[in-house]
Amino acid sequence: MSTTNYQSKAIELDENDELAPFRDRFVNNNVIYLDGNSLGKLPKKSIETLQHLVTEQWGNRLIRAWNEHWLSLSKRTAAKIAQLVGAQADEIFVGDSTSVNLYKLAFAALHFQKHKSEIVSDSTNFPTDLYVLEGLIKNNFNAHKLHILDPKDGITILEDDLRKAINPNTALVCLSHVLYKSAFMFDMKKITDLAHQHGALTLWDLSHATGAVPIQLNASNADLAVGCTYKYLNGGPGAPAFLYVRKDLQAQLTNPIWAWFSHQKPFDFSPNYSESIDIQRFATSTPTILSIAPIEIGVDVFLEAGMTNIRAKSVQQSQFLLAMIQDLLVPKGFHIASPLDVAQRGSHISIQHPEGYRINKALITPSDGSTPIIPDFRPPQNIRLGIAPLYNSYMDLYQCVLRILKIMETKEYETHSKELVGVS
Ligand SMILES: *Cc1c(COP(=O)(O)O)cnc(C)c1O
Repeated sequence: MSTTNYQSKAIELDENDELAPFRDRFVNNNVIYLDGNSLGKLPKKSIETLQHLVTEQWGNRLIRAWNEHWLSLSKRTAAKIAQLVGAQADEIFVGDSTSVNLYKLAFAALHFQKHKSEIVSDSTNFPTDLYVLEGLIKNNFNAHKLHILDPKDGITILEDDLRKAINPNTALVCLSHVLYKSAFMFDMKKITDLAHQHGALTLWDLSHATGAVPIQLNASNADLAVGCTYKYLNGGPGAPAFLYVRKDLQAQLTNPIWAWFSHQKPFDFSPNYSESIDIQRFATSTPTILSIAPIEIGVDVFLEAGMTNIRAKSVQQSQFLLAMIQDLLVPKGFHIASPLDVAQRGSHISIQHPEGYRINKALITPSDGSTPIIPDFRPPQNIRLGIAPLYNSYMDLYQCVLRILKIMETKEYETHSKELVGVS
């Protein structure tokens, strides 16, 4: 199909898009933003809410605001996240970071399964997840072994390989539901069943899945999970993460950090530790109110739009984008580094090119006066095109491909340095 045909198609799809009105909920700043899988956009409502929170609640009400507003914020936000990930309200805790929550839950699982000594993960998992597991082995569980699976085609982790790796000595299977580089998506229920057949626990990292695909933690019988709120959920830079512990496991697992907010009665100020019996057991500290408040606003938009509708648009957008990539970019030397099967894919698409880093730079800082386009780059060659259906249009995707074609034609990328600097 010609570029003009794709353009008319994009216009038509945008006109029929029922989620299009949600674009206006976010601050628009004259860039085409395809990086919502790394840092989500700013919801307009967050500006107003934070302003009120700082000046009125903190400024005027001071410590009285804890009882008036803040003590209920974490639980209310957790209950809303629970709806998005198919869990019960009392199975989710909001706070700390993804890495810290992963550490707490992996430690708890390994401690609980002391008689078993193997952990299964994969080499394309997010680096922090692998570091946390390696650190636990080095510092706490010396006799344990980390079994790291490799993807077959650079993208797919075969179910058969997992079947071979998981055995009666497996304590924990720790995987990202959607992989950050390729967007490959595991079948959560199938793999959880497989782990359970051997008495292993599952710990899912939902960072690239939450807000991107419908998640069914309860229906999958998942044991443990962690996830990020500053990506698709638009919670703001460094916003706290969440964790999930299945109800029946909560009283059996121990938080390695005994802190006052995991105590049954923190405000008794008792010198003796007494572990909370519910999800609060996995908390640590005073809730970070200023950074939890925008999470609630981000999640509210998802609940209003409906995760099923969001996924339907994400699928249609990624199919549209893939068709253009196959038709127009593959002949220019690009390689598709995400699964072609939509059932195995989250909401971003990776394309590879030996000049990927400089092409990504040319997209972000155009020399022809065109609108900047912001995807991101992941070494060695991946340009990740993140699709956030709440604010991305079909036209955004069309313009991105058109611009890449122009960059290739003019070799504009050659004006950029090959040296990797900062966050890209
Ligand atoms: C973004 C991301 C993280 C982030 O971890 P932090 O501790 O919050 O910085 C962790 N895991 C995965 C899979 C991610 O995509």
